[in-house]
Amino acid sequence: MIFRPLKYEKYADKICQKLTEFQNGFRAEYDLDNYANWFYNQSSETLRLYSDDKEIYFKYIPVGTFSQKTNTWMWAWANEHSVEPRKFKTLKVKEFGEKKKYENLTNAHFDGDKYTGWELTSIAFDIIGGIGTYRVISDHLEKYFLLTEQISKEEVEKIESELIDCGIHGKLRKAFICQHLNNKIKTGFEEAFETFRGMELGEEDDFQAWCSECEKERLKTDGWNDESMEFANIKLVCENCYFEIKEFNINE
Ligand SMILES: [Zn+2]
Ligand SMILES: [Zn+2]
Repeated sequence: MIFRPLKYEKYADKICQKLTEFQNGFRAEYDLDNYANWFYNQSSETLRLYSDDKEIYFKYIPVGTFSQKTNTWMWAWANEHSVEPRKFKTLKVKEFGEKKKYENLTNAHFDGDKYTGWELTSIAFDIIGGIGTYRVISDHLEKYFLLTEQISKEEVEKIESELIDCGIHGKLRKAFICQHLNNKIKTGFEEAFETFRGMELGEEDDFQAWCSECEKERLKTDGWNDESMEFANIKLVCENCYFEIKEFNINE
């Protein structure tokens, strides 16, 4: 038995209807029904649809997954197996759910049926936005996407060429940290700018952080110079490593 309070049910039905109408236009505009195959890449958060004679690429935000075996939904933000940086954008849905007291939007996973995936994807689309939505199914697992933009093959290749393979998390965006930062001993955590998981970066921006000792050195010389850079001895990590270290350092 799936519990859907009336207030939520009304809301969800309205939003679902809205997406259905929108999605018809979207599928027609990009001719989405005429691609035979799909492939998605979690590192670059890109979806490729292709047939023998054509292909199209989209950037995506993962919404969540529905298992046809266990009949359960899981929000992307709660999925520890997914490495997509932008999965945390779905926390915006959770925030909305907390305000409205809609449990389906706040619980990490729960029982559902064959409509659950589209229902929650409609709501995510309404709250987060995008150009359309898409679903793929493999091994009884339905995976739902918000498509945010169409991109070219060259752009996908560029994104992928700029990723780092960290050995633990797979291929992700690069981050720069001083040699002292780690996730075993707290060292303080100073950043070039305020960051959060899944954030989008401008062309010129990189995740950059250093410890309190490095900050002292940096302030001595009114900003980075050869000496303080040598002290920091900046190294490259993946963005997941970066945020694990950040959370370890700033949390109690
Ligand atoms: Zn340091
Ligand atoms: Zn890593």
